[in-house]
Amino acid sequence: MSQITDHIYDAIIVGAGYGGLGQGAQLTKDGVDNYLILEGADELGGVWRDNDYPGAACDTQALIYCYSYFLNLGVSRMYAGRDEMLGYLKAMADEFDLHDKIKLNSRVDRAEWLDEENVWKFTTTGGDAYYGRSFVGGWGQLSKPKIPNFPNMDAFGGIMFHSAQWDHSVDLSGKKVAAIGNAASAVQFVPEVAKVAADLTVFQRSANYILPRNQIVFSEEEQQKFKENPDSYREIRQEIHDTREAGFERTRKGTEAAEEGVEQAIEHLRSQVNDPELVKKLTPTYAFGCKRILRSDEFYPTFNRENVHLETSAIESFTEKGIRTTDGVEHEFDVVIFGTGFYSQEFQGDLAIIGRGGTDLRDRWGNSPEAYLGMAVDGYPNMFILYGPNTNLNHHSVVAMLEAQNKYIRQAVEHLQQHPDQPLDVKAEVLRHFNDEIQQELEQSAFSADCSSWYKNEDGKVINNWSGNVAEYHALTETLNLVDYGVK
Ligand code: NAP
Repeated sequence: MSQITDHIYDAIIVGAGYGGLGQGAQLTKDGVDNYLILEGADELGGVWRDNDYPGAACDTQALIYCYSYFLNLGVSRMYAGRDEMLGYLKAMADEFDLHDKIKLNSRVDRAEWLDEENVWKFTTTGGDAYYGRSFVGGWGQLSKPKIPNFPNMDAFGGIMFHSAQWDHSVDLSGKKVAAIGNAASAVQFVPEVAKVAADLTVFQRSANYILPRNQIVFSEEEQQKFKENPDSYREIRQEIHDTREAGFERTRKGTEAAEEGVEQAIEHLRSQVNDPELVKKLTPTYAFGCKRILRSDEFYPTFNRENVHLETSAIESFTEKGIRTTDGVEHEFDVVIFGTGFYSQEFQGDLAIIGRGGTDLRDRWGNSPEAYLGMAVDGYPNMFILYGPNTNLNHHSVVAMLEAQNKYIRQAVEHLQQHPDQPLDVKAEVLRHFNDEIQQELEQSAFSADCSSWYKNEDGKVINNWSGNVAEYHALTETLNLVDYGVK
């Protein structure tokens, strides 16, 4: 007999970003109504809400960066801007009546498994408590901005902010600006900052492989056609999917496809940058695919501008007026922008997750998070993490992974609706076997090659990326296999 007098939800989803909203839509679509989405911020949207830096856009084709059951038919360009991406998520919330399911300003700081009740108890920073049979983690891998701890940062008298926390009150026109980092976020905001700043210095620690983006702007007629005949959209989506899946081969060590990728990227660089010295500095020295392969037509040409400089000497420390590099030069700046990425390996999010035996998931994992199918961890029954360990992609859209996860989790939620006394606690050996296999496959992958990347932990183990292609992941997650959870 349950001691809980509060309402028990079939599922509590933490986070109203791409994954969490997708989970809600999937449940609603399939007739599961008794769920709640708890969101810490005052608006839905996750990374598409937070990342509003100039030039912010989806670096993956919008036609595959949407759910198959809710196509982004109104999109105006192939690589959609941030506002359109956020607009898509809001439209999805409208379409599936998710607004009533979302509790904004409800930051969960603790989730605790109650073994006798077979439910999770969630507590918010505001002191509210909620109960759910299933727990779906939707905080993603890239939600917590990371600013490196450079020596003497406190002494700097200018303005500093992270790209995911852009300070729009700062007018960059006429300013001397530093951009630290040159990866996926920086390649988007650097060209925009260069247009207004008096002077821009980009600090590059290592170069990236950048492919042409070849933006396509859809005419009004094309947009209309997509809406009237979604199959025409689906056809293009399928073509992009096929090309992208084939591109997975490029992320495997030593393949011909990887060689072709290098050639394409270097040709792109040489065709866009005039100065041979700059070309040399912008040429990567590690395996193709070791870190995210970027797409931009604007980043390289920015370095042909007179007001833009590429700095490859390492940062030694901050000073009152700017940054000192290891070659002894002091660079003066009014504003420093950090495009330095995220705490991408905090798969347990910002909350304490207390499983069986009172173990905090953070302690259980240490620096080596792993989950069965990237979702389930033994000792944490009925908990499923979206975009969890080893589910990131380099070659395709992560939404393709989220959709598979949403469907898998929906099966779990339905099972638990019918059998609340049969918790789904993945067997430890199932998780171990799964992880051993993917780690073995990842040895052949460029993700495990030698470069600095957010895909690996400090021991060099790839903990962010999936080892295969999308089709393989879909096949593995299509059916919830109760035997994996010790339930017949
Ligand atoms: P990131 O890929 O982690 O890149 C961080 C950058 O900062 C790198 O250039 C890194 O240099 C540099 N950096 C980090 N610490 C440094 C230090 N101590 N000193 C000097 N440089 C330092 O971060 P991000 O560009 O924000 O992208 C993160 C991920 O977000 C992407 O891979 C992508 O998955 C996602 N993203 C997606 C989109 C989209 O359009 N969908 C847009 C932006 C981001 P090293 O390369 O040497 O490590």
